[in-house]
Formats: sequence, C-alpha cells, structure tokens
Amino acid sequence: MTVATLYVVATPIGNLADLSPRGQEVLRTVAAICAEDTRRTGQLLSHFGISQPLVALHDHNEELLAQRIVARLQAGESLALVSDAGTPLVSDPGFRLVRAARQAGIRVSPIPGACAAIAALSVAGLPSDRFTFEGFLPAKASGRRDRLQGLAGELRTMVFYESSHRITESLADMAAVFGGERPAVLARELTKLFETVLDGDLHSLQQQVDADENQRKGEFVVMVQGAADDEQAQLAEGRRVYATLSEHLPPSTAAKLAAELTGAPRKALYGS
Ligand code: SAM
Repeated sequence: MTVATLYVVATPIGNLADLSPRGQEVLRTVAAICAEDTRRTGQLLSHFGISQPLVALHDHNEELLAQRIVARLQAGESLALVSDAGTPLVSDPGFRLVRAARQAGIRVSPIPGACAAIAALSVAGLPSDRFTFEGFLPAKASGRRDRLQGLAGELRTMVFYESSHRITESLADMAAVFGGERPAVLARELTKLFETVLDGDLHSLQQQVDADENQRKGEFVVMVQGAADDEQAQLAEGRRVYATLSEHLPPSTAAKLAAELTGAPRKALYGS
C-alpha cells in the first residue's frame, strides 16, 4: 500500500500540453484535488478527460481548511494541490497547507512542471547562476518604490511578476530607482499564442511597452540584472552623502544634490 501523500502538482502556464504525464496520472488517481479556483481547474481536468472531486482552497480559507485536509491525509487518502497556473506556492496559495501537512508528518511530494519565473529566466540571457525571486511588487506606488529602493544595491538578477494593470508603472519605477541603463528582459505570455520576450535596458523596455498597446496586454515576468560593483559603490556613496545632507536640507533637495554629486539615481536615495 502506498503512503498517503499530498502531491503538489504544477499545472501549465498557458500551453496545456505542458501538464506532465506524471501530473496527469496523479490528478487522475488521488482521492480529491485542492484547487485555487475549482472552475478553472475543472476546465483543465476536462481537457484531459479527468473527473475528480475538487476542494476550493484559496488565500481566504486556507488556514481554516488546512487541518481538515490534513485529517483526510491522516485517514489514508492521497490528495493533490494545484493552483490556477504553474507551480503552487510560487505567488500562489498552498504554503499553509504544505506546512500543516509537514508538521503532521504527512509525506508531501512535488510533481514539478511549469513555473513562469523559471521559464522566463531560462530564455532571458541574464546572469542566472544566482537570482532573487521578488514576486509581485506592492500595488500602491509608495510601497512599490520602497520595495525597489531596498533592492537598488542587489547584485543578483531580480525576477518580478507583473500584470497588465501595472506593467507601465512598474517599469517606470524600476527605471527611476535602478537607472534606465540597467539591462532587463520582459517575458510576456510565455507558452501562449502571443509569447514575446523583449530585451535591452529598462529605458528601452519602457519605450517598447509605451509604443505598442499589445505589449501591455497579458501576463509578465520582468527580470532586471543586478547592480554592477561600481553601481553598488555609487549607491553606497549616494546614500552616505544623502544622509549627511538631509540633516541640513529638506529630503528632496538633499536627494537631488546627492544624486548630482555621486551619480546615484535620485529615486534610489529618496522616494519622491
Ligand atoms: N504559480 C505561478 C508560477 O508558477 O509561475 C504564478 C502565479 S501568479 C498568481 C501569476 C503571475 O505569474 C502573472 O501575473 C505573471 O506575472 C506570471 N505568469 C503566469 N503565467 C505567465 C505566462 N504565461 N507568461 C508570463 N508570465 C506569467
């Protein structure tokens, strides 16, 4: 008899053929599937001729349901966890359930597959030996700038998720904080009909997206190369000068002067 297992199954990020044979097999044979959106998962399953009981598990009920699902696993049922697209837990629900299952000593096993961040990184041509996954930036402008400022000196390639609603604003803020010349790649609609991968620097990406309405549609992964050593040194110097000047001047004036004196992007020093 196989041990009751919680299978964490990656589903396609566009092209349905990307659901692995093992993923199909697991989804066909478990007792039930925990899904972020049962309607969407129902469509995926019907494409593969799979009919299974579905349990809605999303950010709003996960804490509450986790123990009930763990009880089913403890009773000997194997279950699967999927999200709407790609790998569960990657900017998607599932963390609380997986933690609860592990704490209960349940076997948790991955069925790997599509993940937009990794797919994008694999075609970006940016340094990928070390990278940092940043997920979605905060929706509010001030929170977004704060987050980006905290990353201004990051040396690793940064990977962000973004939606069509905020792609223009996010690219503009990234160019302001990291500098428009920072190498960057924009991957859109991967594995789908309108898949596009634009490369260049943040400024040129901004121009291409501004110039073509189609480039603002769909789902995006934005990848930004980490700071070069000299950029990082410039930023450190900019912050040192800003700290001194802001003791005597209004923050916006101090940031402007510190940027002029050191060459560091003003928005990396002060958020206005
Ligand atoms: N769990 C998913 C994964 O493994 O990639 C991510 C889910 S997250 C809620 C959705 C975001 O992933 C989108 O807003 C977009 O940033 C990115 N994404 C998903 N599918 C994509 C695709 N086909 N092309 C580009 N980005 C995609």
